[in-house]
Amino acid sequence: MKKWLIGKSISELAQIVETLALPAYTAKQLAEWLYKKRVKEIEQMSNLSKSSRQALAEEYEVGGFSPVESLISTDGTKKYLFPTLKGSTIESVMIPEEERATLCVSSQTGCKMGCHFCMTGRLGFNGNLTAGEIISQFINVEESENLTNVVFMGMGEPLDNVAEVFKSIEILTADWGFGWSPKRITLSTIGVYPALKDFLDNSKCHLAISLHNPFEEERIQLMPMEKAYPISETVNLIRNYDFSGQRRVSFEYIMFNGWNDDKRHADGLIRLLRGIECRVNLIRFHEIPDFPLKSSQMGMMEIFQNRLNKAGLIATIRSSRGEDILAACGQLSGSNRKILKKQINSTGE
Ligand code: SF4
Repeated sequence: MKKWLIGKSISELAQIVETLALPAYTAKQLAEWLYKKRVKEIEQMSNLSKSSRQALAEEYEVGGFSPVESLISTDGTKKYLFPTLKGSTIESVMIPEEERATLCVSSQTGCKMGCHFCMTGRLGFNGNLTAGEIISQFINVEESENLTNVVFMGMGEPLDNVAEVFKSIEILTADWGFGWSPKRITLSTIGVYPALKDFLDNSKCHLAISLHNPFEEERIQLMPMEKAYPISETVNLIRNYDFSGQRRVSFEYIMFNGWNDDKRHADGLIRLLRGIECRVNLIRFHEIPDFPLKSSQMGMMEIFQNRLNKAGLIATIRSSRGEDILAACGQLSGSNRKILKKQINSTGE
């Protein structure tokens, strides 16, 4: 199999060009063909000489995977299933809103973090995605040209795959790449550091922290990595950064009935986040098989939200998207092809 050109940074392209003894300016031309013109074949790179194209094509191809399946929710959310270079599958989710089209990309096949409420966590870990596989999701969804936002919130913990995730962010935001503003990109993490510090120091993208419980001894029950990355340390790190301007930090809080949705938890959250300019997203839990907790009732969520708002924390209840196609937060498994096929058949597609 030939190596992929997509997913290469400008310095890697320069290295390829140098190794093949092509003119140095070819690197910029390659980036333009890959990330601005989005060609699928080296042959289409018409301002490269024939011999340059031949030299490239001996070892490389543009690369990328088309989705093998897609499924549309009744609310317009669309889930894509992509193959990976190692022969597994991953999922990406496109979420349309009034003035936005957000793509939720995966960064790993499975995940090491093992959060008990998450289908991806149950898969275990099957490998990191390359920057090429991450960018391929962005390029190959049907809505690619109309996307307004990207969130690293699909399968995997992005800060457990920093080299490839940071490179894909560089490709999305660099002038020689897609030229997106970092304000259109959000990275979601359970708080893996020192990678989190690296991200905060070296990028201007937004940050979302999967919090789910303000008390360490309770959070560890559902999120075993709390032991390695305590939420208090994550929040203390975040305190050192300025989120009062363009850059935003939000805290994701999935609400479980009777587990984290009472006054004590609301007050714990208020204490934990005091002084941080942030938003709290309260999320309804989408049930998964063999997991005992259920979602909080809407009434309970509203009481919780009001308590946070009264204390000066901006809290919103997120509308649930894509529940019917298992595209909601924590439901991505990449292995539910049978379900996917069954649902596609039942919708007559
Ligand atoms: Fe991994 Fe995120 Fe799922 Fe936790 S919630 S297991 S970090 S994908």
